[in-house]
Amino acid sequence: MSNSNFLWEIILKELKAELPAQVFETWFLGASIDKVDFANKIIVITSKEALVSQFIHGAYDARLKQILKNTTGFDFNIEYDSLDNNFEIPEKPTKTTPAAEDIIRQNFLQGNKPSGAQHFYQKQSLPLDEYKKPVASNNNFNSKKNPTLNKNYTFDNFVVGAGNIYAHNVAYNVADSPGGIYNPLFIYGGAGLGKTHLLHAIGNEMEKNFPEFKIECISSEKFLNEFLASIKPMKNKNDNADEDFRRKYRDIDALLIDDIQFLSGKTETQNAFFHTFNELQMNQKQIVLISDKSPSQLNDLEDRLVTRFEQGVTTDITPPDFETRMAILKYKCTQFDIELDEETLIYISNNVSSNIRELEGVLKSIKSMSATMNKKPSLHIAEEILKDVRKAPRKNISPDHIINACSDFYSIRKDDILSSTRKKEVVQARNIAIYLCRELTNLSFPAIGQHFNKDHTSILYSFNKIAKLNEDEFPDIFENISMIKEKLGQI
Ligand code: ADP
Ligand code: MG
Repeated sequence: MSNSNFLWEIILKELKAELPAQVFETWFLGASIDKVDFANKIIVITSKEALVSQFIHGAYDARLKQILKNTTGFDFNIEYDSLDNNFEIPEKPTKTTPAAEDIIRQNFLQGNKPSGAQHFYQKQSLPLDEYKKPVASNNNFNSKKNPTLNKNYTFDNFVVGAGNIYAHNVAYNVADSPGGIYNPLFIYGGAGLGKTHLLHAIGNEMEKNFPEFKIECISSEKFLNEFLASIKPMKNKNDNADEDFRRKYRDIDALLIDDIQFLSGKTETQNAFFHTFNELQMNQKQIVLISDKSPSQLNDLEDRLVTRFEQGVTTDITPPDFETRMAILKYKCTQFDIELDEETLIYISNNVSSNIRELEGVLKSIKSMSATMNKKPSLHIAEEILKDVRKAPRKNISPDHIINACSDFYSIRKDDILSSTRKKEVVQARNIAIYLCRELTNLSFPAIGQHFNKDHTSILYSFNKIAKLNEDEFPDIFENISMIKEKLGQI
């Protein structure tokens, strides 16, 4: 038996033991390991269809890496390939093969409920005027039963597309079968990409499915404050505050916790969280964690917590592609009651590329400016507003901004940029991201290395690869760098 077959057999055995038969058969039986590169610690998993590859990547990457590590002792990076690798679901959903669609339907369609995937196919194909008019969403209102849930954030008003389909589908499954195989669920991604929205959507859907559930959906900051209040010696403090804190978290059915990166460096709170986490997990209560970084990139978080986070499913949200930005804009136009023509929508989509909160901001500004000027919203108004947005100096630009911008510009997943893969196009995007980190931030090479999980010599090497290029010989690369900088508001 070849190395790759042998490894794949081991992986299959592990997965078979832990996944429901249908899930296992649908996603894994048609796949195999194509190549094992022990020197560079890369393996390639090939599925029949890109859709399956992308799903395995999105939902099982962390688990596969963990099995590989346990089996071989090495940290492997996994590349995902498919036999139909021209097929791109998110951008051209109409190209979906019936087989692929069946797979998704079988997996996500439960009873008569709309599934995550169905959601995706329907939403992508809906003409603008068929987008459901959402409920007014400006004034926050919270669930009476579970007051930490914001009712404005639901699956119904979450537009699904490339970049968030996996996170959305897994989230939907968790709301449907809490405490099942996706526990804990860890979702990470850059700012303004819909992580908080998805977290509350899970809670709201869960509340619908399980009305008796006690659901706590809070930020890590609030968790920290509650914990501090419970241990602080104070006059008049309720003597049982400590016990109250523990009981509160022990008694819930689902803990949805936002911005977990906030616990970095807060040792005592991490300790309290660790115990809460263990107790909930032991009782098969669902835990969902949101973060701006993947578990392994969370600095100053105890290893034992990181290990726990990686036990379930980890998936990321990446910036929306052009088509999804258009879908979101169209949807938000109905939400905010603005009429914009196609040309203006395209203009906005092309100029605001990495953040959905920013897309919303631009629409709101257009609405208020056109009301002030007493004119219909137009391309001209959009141009005026975006001129200001783009001119605004972006202070404190972070490696995360830069990595997101490069990921978006080259349509390469952030995970891949941060991996060690040597695929040519990924290496170039990674080198440019590293070069820009050095140029646009005050960070040292070792500090940049922390963001890319690399030591400073590799960072220096990547930086030099770009810094030493001759502009006359590589005009395309220089032009790309200018465009990325422009997107980052640095020109
Ligand atoms: P994050 O927590 O990732 O920073 P949020 O969840 O706060 O981002 O999202 C920012 C804004 O963008 C919110 O108003 C949210 O409703 C909206 N938003 C984000 N993603 C989507 C989406 N896929 N569909 C509709 N609205 C979205
Ligand atoms: Mg958030």
